[in-house]
Amino acid sequence: MTEHTYDSRAEFAAEMDRREARNFESRFFKSDGTIYMDGNSLGLMSVDSEAALLRAADNFKRLGIGGWMSADPPWFTYAETLGAKMAGLVGAQSGEVIVTGSTTLNIHSLLSTFYKPRGSRTKLLMDELNFPSDIYAAAGHMRLLGRPEADLVLLQSRDDSTLDEDDIIGAFDDSIALVLLPSVLYRSGQLLDIERLTKAAHARGILIGFDCCHSAGAVPHRLHEWGVDFAVWCCYKYLNGGPGASAAVYVHQRHHSTPAGLPGWFGNDKATQFDMRPNFEQAGGAGAWQAGTPHIFSMAPIEGSLNIFAEYGIDNVREKSLRLTSYLMRLADDLPAEHGFTVITPREPHRRGGHIALTHPTESIRVNSCLKKRGIVPDFRFPNIIRLAPIALYNNFREVWQTVNAVREIMETREYLSESNDRDTVS
Ligand SMILES: *Cc1c(COP(=O)(O)O)cnc(C)c1O
Repeated sequence: MTEHTYDSRAEFAAEMDRREARNFESRFFKSDGTIYMDGNSLGLMSVDSEAALLRAADNFKRLGIGGWMSADPPWFTYAETLGAKMAGLVGAQSGEVIVTGSTTLNIHSLLSTFYKPRGSRTKLLMDELNFPSDIYAAAGHMRLLGRPEADLVLLQSRDDSTLDEDDIIGAFDDSIALVLLPSVLYRSGQLLDIERLTKAAHARGILIGFDCCHSAGAVPHRLHEWGVDFAVWCCYKYLNGGPGASAAVYVHQRHHSTPAGLPGWFGNDKATQFDMRPNFEQAGGAGAWQAGTPHIFSMAPIEGSLNIFAEYGIDNVREKSLRLTSYLMRLADDLPAEHGFTVITPREPHRRGGHIALTHPTESIRVNSCLKKRGIVPDFRFPNIIRLAPIALYNNFREVWQTVNAVREIMETREYLSESNDRDTVS
């Protein structure tokens, strides 16, 4: 879609869908009568993920403990197998990614490894817009080390929704030991310039890691080439691995001999793990950043999902995602000004991830509730953000049109006035 061809009528959306060369919608379980726009919070299950999960269950049924070596693929190296399969999505080398833990625990593990205050270089730089769990983990880590509170620096946003890379780089001084930033901000959807920030950090002798929860599976990365020191992401958002799916860790090759901060027996060299010796022999790759036994049933759906990504290609995912989100923003721009909505997501393709954030000064909660009643699944983020994520793998242009048209109707008919202004616990 270009500016030239954009057309706000429903027929245009249908035409865009007809022109789509490849379509993976039928590989996902989409409920009839529902428009799912929340794949940035919990991606939908695919046929492939279900099959992989059933296969893992069947392996357990038939093989018992034998599954560690004889399951298809063997459980003993499943985390490494999936890590290698996922590496291309983030531009890592195959030994640089491991599927393990949860994002929050992995942050603890990587801070334990890479946050080494020394001399006057003592600070950990994050940002105030970061996902709360990341900040809680970092603050807890500082307490554990007995660091003063002032060592955790949260960079301020100028507008409460985006960060300016110049401001971030401006804060890279000699007091900073480590930087931990999101790739895509979970509320506004802003995508930071990972390459530029990494180069700037390294030029000042600072290590840098990224939380890629909102970009993995939506945006291509070149983590290895850019030299990013480490990264974490979850596999249940754009990667469709299911609720509580195991998360992922990337550690750049150059750090593979750095002692893992929270070691455990699955981070031992595979060849000697079952010798059960008291001395830890750290595995050669990112696998060293595992601790205990891998959660096979929380990993199998990821395997199925990765097969779909391998077929479609992350660049194609990104290209379609950008067309869907551009279209959504154009339709939102066409809403009458008196409806009061603003798109706070940056417009430039290289500055946005896979979702669009709409704000309304007073009615976001009620509009969000109305959308849900109509079978449209958005999500709400405090205080006034409605996030909409048209997912390249399973959403289409008609659904985007219907979603924005529903917002228009909810405002025109004042349907929102019938809803309460309280929000649900998980929205
Ligand atoms: C989703 C998300 C998390 C969630 O962490 P879990 O440990 O999986 O609950 C953490 N950080 C960011 C930036 C996220 O988007």
